[in-house]
Amino acid sequence: DQRELNRLRRQPNRSRDDVSIQVHANAESREGVAEAHALGATGIGLYRTEFLFLRSNDLPEEQEQFQAYRDLVLGMSGRPVTIRTLDLGADKADRTGLALRDEPNPAMGMRGIRLSLARTGLLETQLRAILRASGYGPVRILLPMVTMREEVRAVRAELDRIAAELRREGHEIAPHVALGTMIEVPAAAIALSGFISDIDFVAIGTNDLIQYLLAADRNNDALGELHTLLHPAVLRVMRDVLLLAKKHAIPASVCGEIAGDARFSPLLLALGLEEFSVHPSSLLEVRRTIRSCDVHALRASAPSLMRARDRAQIEQWMQRQLAS
Ligand code: PEP
Ligand code: MG
Repeated sequence: DQRELNRLRRQPNRSRDDVSIQVHANAESREGVAEAHALGATGIGLYRTEFLFLRSNDLPEEQEQFQAYRDLVLGMSGRPVTIRTLDLGADKADRTGLALRDEPNPAMGMRGIRLSLARTGLLETQLRAILRASGYGPVRILLPMVTMREEVRAVRAELDRIAAELRREGHEIAPHVALGTMIEVPAAAIALSGFISDIDFVAIGTNDLIQYLLAADRNNDALGELHTLLHPAVLRVMRDVLLLAKKHAIPASVCGEIAGDARFSPLLLALGLEEFSVHPSSLLEVRRTIRSCDVHALRASAPSLMRARDRAQIEQWMQRQLAS
């Protein structure tokens, strides 16, 4: 089995019926990025910048951030990297004093893009660092916890202003850096058609999207299996997002934990997913599963999946795909 996985490492990411599927990695650490590269990840689909902010008492300055992002870009030698702006909130214990303390409901509080837009200089420093790194290879910028169009427009304006400023200063930056949003707040998923023309790609964050759709804390074990992909509402929202992205010809990925669970790969392919982003340790298993799937047949069976009315019926659909 190990030998088979080793062989797989060098094979292209194609399904049994020859559909090209991207399998990116979620990685932050130097080791994680090296592993992703060695295992044939098509890119970095999610680089969580929080860790830069969590490891010290001081806010990382532009130069420190720039070096981290540049190393990431160079580490992937030309494959695209997706850098997510800070997703800090009261749920993550930072020592910089940036996030609010003791929020009554951190998951619904001042986190992600809300915090970045509220703190003067935070977004500017981060965007400058990311744009400077774009001079070293393909970079995409991803915004966490987007709820509404206004947030995207505010970042876009800032991004354009900063890009012009950096060019005036003589920095070599990429002519175009893609700007995308996480789809993890249900309102953003539902209202996506209203701002899809403002963005270049989307990344579905199922950890949070499921949490908010099902009102089920992603970290509360007492809820058992309530935090699940296998709920008709979750499938419906994801399918709508994927279809809309396809219609507008923008890339759409899933980068929550479930993307790395190969049991769900056929289901995600049926929903129309063409871009996975998974923990490096899941890369080979997910790629192997995709290689065994008939993507056209899975997509053709999407209507029957969408008719499922409960978890048991969704699981029956999954069983049927295994049998075919
Ligand atoms: C998600 O919410 O699914 C996600 C990928 O982001 P994070 O786990 O960092 O909240
Ligand atoms: Mg999230």
